[in-house]
Amino acid sequence: MREQKKRVTSKDELIPFLDTLERRYEAACVAMGTANWHSYAKDSAYNLDAAKAQFAEIFLDTSLRNIITEWLNISGSLADKHLERRLELWKRCFIGGGIYADPEIARQENALQEKITNFKLTFQGQPTTRAKASNALRQEKRQPKRRMLWNVPGQISKATINDLVELVQLRNAKAKDEGFPNYYSLSLYLHSIEEAWLLKTLNSLEERTRPLLDTFIVESKKKHRLKNFGPWDFDYVLREAVSLPDKYFPADSVFKVIHQFEKEIGFAVDSLPIKEVVKDIPYGGLSLAIKIPKDSRFLVNPTKGKGFYGVAFHEYGHSLKAVHTNVEYPIMKGFEWIPGAQCAAYEEGVAEMHAEFTEDTTWIKEYTKVKEKELTKYIEGRSLPALFRLRRLLKDFFIEYEMYKNPKQDLAALEREMFKKYLLVELDSNEQHQFASSIWYVSYPCYYQNYILAAMIATQLQEAMSSKFGEQKLHNRKIAAWMKRHLYASGETTEWVERIRDASGKGLEPGAYLRKLGIEISQHIHKD
Ligand SMILES: [Zn+2]
Repeated sequence: MREQKKRVTSKDELIPFLDTLERRYEAACVAMGTANWHSYAKDSAYNLDAAKAQFAEIFLDTSLRNIITEWLNISGSLADKHLERRLELWKRCFIGGGIYADPEIARQENALQEKITNFKLTFQGQPTTRAKASNALRQEKRQPKRRMLWNVPGQISKATINDLVELVQLRNAKAKDEGFPNYYSLSLYLHSIEEAWLLKTLNSLEERTRPLLDTFIVESKKKHRLKNFGPWDFDYVLREAVSLPDKYFPADSVFKVIHQFEKEIGFAVDSLPIKEVVKDIPYGGLSLAIKIPKDSRFLVNPTKGKGFYGVAFHEYGHSLKAVHTNVEYPIMKGFEWIPGAQCAAYEEGVAEMHAEFTEDTTWIKEYTKVKEKELTKYIEGRSLPALFRLRRLLKDFFIEYEMYKNPKQDLAALEREMFKKYLLVELDSNEQHQFASSIWYVSYPCYYQNYILAAMIATQLQEAMSSKFGEQKLHNRKIAAWMKRHLYASGETTEWVERIRDASGKGLEPGAYLRKLGIEISQHIHKD
């Protein structure tokens, strides 16, 4: 679109300028979504690079960016809320899109990703894989062997640590160019997560859950007669955590159950433009909003049992949001491709809100044939694995967060410190580091807080529904309308924190999540 004007001199010119820009943007989003879909569904040829080039053409164009910046500076005087919001989102997207389209960062990311995925791991001289080692770890009765198995990813970490540090520094340099202290701070800004609030929230989760983990470790040591407790012992002692038998969640009726349930709470499931496919993919599930709100599709990996249902409900939740988004401007539709156009934690949270229904005792009783005794045992036991998962996420988050703050520090020592603080286990200074084996730090940087925030969002919204609809929570057809009105329809017209407040009557806080973990919050804690 070479005809696009490179100068915008009045508000009357600004609006068509943005409209044109957003049509190009939406076309790139659709191309990227379609290419991604075909790359997973394997149902047609696709070209991811061509789709990415469409974005690069927009986000590497400095003259477009300058126009946005110029107008944003005087947006207060435009007296137009939508226009102001569009400019704000565009500003964020130009920052996020510039990094997304940066060829040097992409090259380093791809090289490192390949190095990690193609790495030839060995165990005791024999070839192995990460999955094999972690499966063996879970079942290994001898602690010294568990420790060796746990160490397997360290082989990768040793080979990749320098590349990772280089990538971190590249990203940091970009962030500094944009006026941020480091890339983590920039990422949080793009997702509209206030950094100080996040740290306070995560620290409070850490404090409130520490005694529980402490007790768990003491009891596990006694039960398994362990003199010391190391990070290699968690999976082993947790392996007997109670799960509900797979037979109660027949894989072939998952979509039937989803439709039946979502209809029950008021969604017009039969007429929604949502396509569902079961397919072997490298994730549990994957949902793509190809064209919002007209075309949403999701894939689920054919696994088994309650976990499979949870994933399918979650992905369906993503799709429900996409097809009920009702905004005119493409930049406000919440497409996922360019960092800055949505908040991933919110997206995950409102999707997880649907998965959370399958955690509801009444739901399980109504939709499965689980026996009362099995259910009681499950509800009692589920908090320990969830607690461990949370603490591990905190560990992973803080390693990355501190790494971006200072990539030159002794990162192996940092990892040990984080293991101690969040998993309450001590590591020897000669233990091989393993953080640099993580594909997450490479391909999904600055993402770990999203899982924690998503769990908080899902549980807080469930509590809000319980208090609004009470016993009716699983049957009231007004629930769909409630979700649409508070959580879906307005897209990115307002910030995600406002949507949560609007739906639940309060800002996002850890209370509901802690209650689900079995931790009651004292009423006497004074406010700081
Ligand atoms: Zn998701």
